[in-house]
Amino acid sequence: MIERKFWDEENETLPIQKLQKLQNERLQNAIDWAYKKTKFYRALFDQAEVKPQDISSIEDLSKIPFTTDIEVATDIPLKDRLAIPEEKIKMYHSTSGTVGSVVPIPFSEKDMETFFKDGEARSRWTMGVRPWDTIQILTRFDCCLLGYKKLGASIVLLSAGRYSTDHQIRLTKESGVTVIEHMPSLLLHYFERMEQIGIDIKDTELRMVSGVGEGWAESYKKKIEGKYGIPFMTLYGAVETVPFAAAECEARKGMHINADVGILEVVDPKTGKLLPEGEEGELVVTMFEREAMPLIRYRVGDVGSILPYEICSCGRTMPKMSYVKGRVSQIVNIRGKNILPIDVEEVIAGFEDLENEFRIICSKQEMEVLKLRIEHKSEVKQLKVLKEKVEEMFFNNLGINTELDLVPKGKLERVTFKAQRIEKLY
Ligand SMILES: [Zn+2]
Repeated sequence: MIERKFWDEENETLPIQKLQKLQNERLQNAIDWAYKKTKFYRALFDQAEVKPQDISSIEDLSKIPFTTDIEVATDIPLKDRLAIPEEKIKMYHSTSGTVGSVVPIPFSEKDMETFFKDGEARSRWTMGVRPWDTIQILTRFDCCLLGYKKLGASIVLLSAGRYSTDHQIRLTKESGVTVIEHMPSLLLHYFERMEQIGIDIKDTELRMVSGVGEGWAESYKKKIEGKYGIPFMTLYGAVETVPFAAAECEARKGMHINADVGILEVVDPKTGKLLPEGEEGELVVTMFEREAMPLIRYRVGDVGSILPYEICSCGRTMPKMSYVKGRVSQIVNIRGKNILPIDVEEVIAGFEDLENEFRIICSKQEMEVLKLRIEHKSEVKQLKVLKEKVEEMFFNNLGINTELDLVPKGKLERVTFKAQRIEKLY
């Protein structure tokens, strides 16, 4: 049997000119739909004195104002954003609620089809998941579970194991799980626990990890892959913007954007100015296929870049984006340089004597020196020497001065989210 290589060959291998044509057509339809059907976008366009006919291609997008955080826009009622009658809503998702309140995101029947087919399933196929895989999702995202189901894979239900880590670990082994999906920082605790209760990953069927929800430092990822002997693939998607997503392919150099369902722009988070390919900034997404709740120029709040265009060795023609580095809200300014927790992780991964737990201590908005508290391995004796080496590495790699406080392993509370790695004192 010849293995089917792509999930959606026609769209994933479209010549770039055809893809751009398709994007422009779909963009016009999406703008038209949002303007005609929602009070929110009509008011937004009218205020900016933009008519749907002014937008005929991606180049025109910057005429439209950004839409920001749905999470804090509680003053805009859902009905004003809704483009279909309420009875046609077949599913709700929601924003995470980590910032502001939880906002429902409605989906129509058609939205659900593109959500699971073009978003969830295609991205997983790009990463290399196949129908004969058995999937365990530890993030508890049932939308992802449904995507894997659409792909045809076998799934371990979210409630299996009753959310107890040890039970789930036993299920990983006993159910023959081949792919685990989790947030990178939490996954490592899962694997550590596995070792503690005497299960060797090499004795399981596990062949791939799907990392979602936060970025990975490349050097750290390589170190972990070397240790466990399985690829740690990366998927990008925000709850608000599905089915728009991006996924790492076998070439392992960035993630393919599913550019036929939406447009990704990268802007300077401070000025809102559009940035060219290769430059890092805030991600802004416009959705083509959003019947229930259109999303136009939505500032996602994540930091990344669009990679200079080239046809990938995997055969896909879809453009690629960098791995996401973090959230705009996590940017720490050191003498005009933007530093994210992942940059710190990248440096400390190079030291065998350091643990992966650290805190960035922020005393004010712009600092001269990066203040860090990092855990060291218990057996380290020459702390002064280690400190000097780490400081030197920070200066060489990031061009910044650091003030380090090395603390023994176990001193810092284990984080469940990368955002918690920043301690704000102001
Ligand atoms: Zn590729």
